[in-house]
Amino acid sequence: MFKLNILSYLKIIVYFAVIRKDRYFYIGEYIEIVNKMLLNLTGKKILVTGIANNRSIAWGIAQQLSKAGAELGITYLPDDKGRFESKVRELTKPLNPSLFLPLDVQNPAQIEEIFQNIKNNWGQIDGLVHCLAFAGRDELIGDYSATTSEGFDRALNISAYSLAPLCKAAKPLFSDGAGVVSLTYLGSERAIPNYNVMGVAKAALEASVRYLSAELGPEKQVRVNAISAGPIRTLASSAIGGILDMIHNVEEKAPLRRTVTQTEVGNTAAFLLSDLSSGISGQTIYVDAGYCINGM
Ligand code: NDP
Repeated sequence: MFKLNILSYLKIIVYFAVIRKDRYFYIGEYIEIVNKMLLNLTGKKILVTGIANNRSIAWGIAQQLSKAGAELGITYLPDDKGRFESKVRELTKPLNPSLFLPLDVQNPAQIEEIFQNIKNNWGQIDGLVHCLAFAGRDELIGDYSATTSEGFDRALNISAYSLAPLCKAAKPLFSDGAGVVSLTYLGSERAIPNYNVMGVAKAALEASVRYLSAELGPEKQVRVNAISAGPIRTLASSAIGGILDMIHNVEEKAPLRRTVTQTEVGNTAAFLLSDLSSGISGQTIYVDAGYCINGM
């Protein structure tokens, strides 16, 4: 979808050379123009966090970034038995990631190690995908007022705060015009049954996106944005009480009468990490089949 085959390149060259004779270009210039017109991540080095399995939104994002030509670094949440590592390694093998590293965002040493690794191997970083969240099952059902202090801290720490230390570690390594993308949900601004503390965490995350956008923009034009995705069945969302009702509601009421796919979210992430979105920062972009426009 993103890459041009040689025939398409030739057609565009012929367009400029034959139809528009107003300027003479070298072939390299033609290719540069074409690449700028298209979503092309060739040469960009992007770190993707939050792949758990083939339903993960981060997996949809990683595939679309790779299709657009990006070189990927992949992280996995380490566990004692190494099960997640082997599962994520096997899944992501076809994308040929040049970095594959453990990351528990609550472990500052692992964050440091990842960016040391990026410094040594990549020299710089062009994109960071923050696609992770966690809240205990008990916090994702019933009354919000029943949220425990520990549950609140953990959900906010993993799901919202974590974006800040990742950006801090990436800051000296960001290339000019690099991009950061995080994942959020409508529960940040509307009361969605059972979403509870995760809604509060997503509100904090969206505010973090704006503050980080203001901090990282001036020096190197680094852009920070969030994608607010419609409900999708994944490991994390299965913990939310009534997730299927949320999905059915979207299928019934969204302007597109369906919910979205991981691939559609991945396409928007690819756009936000490409030069095509160079003027967009600090935004929450809705990829939800239009659901958020509804009044009722
Ligand atoms: P997944 O379960 O596939 O992904 C969540 C990821 O977060 C997993 O890889 C999980 O690892 C990881 N994670 C949890 N705790 C930590 C931690 N301490 N350190 C590092 N990684 C951690 O679910 P989704 O793809 O649904 O979630 C991805 C993002 O998308 C989340 O931010 C979610 O809130 C957001 N989102 C999801 C929607 C949906 O309907 N699914 C809608 C809108 C936004 P592991 O599984 O190994 O524990």
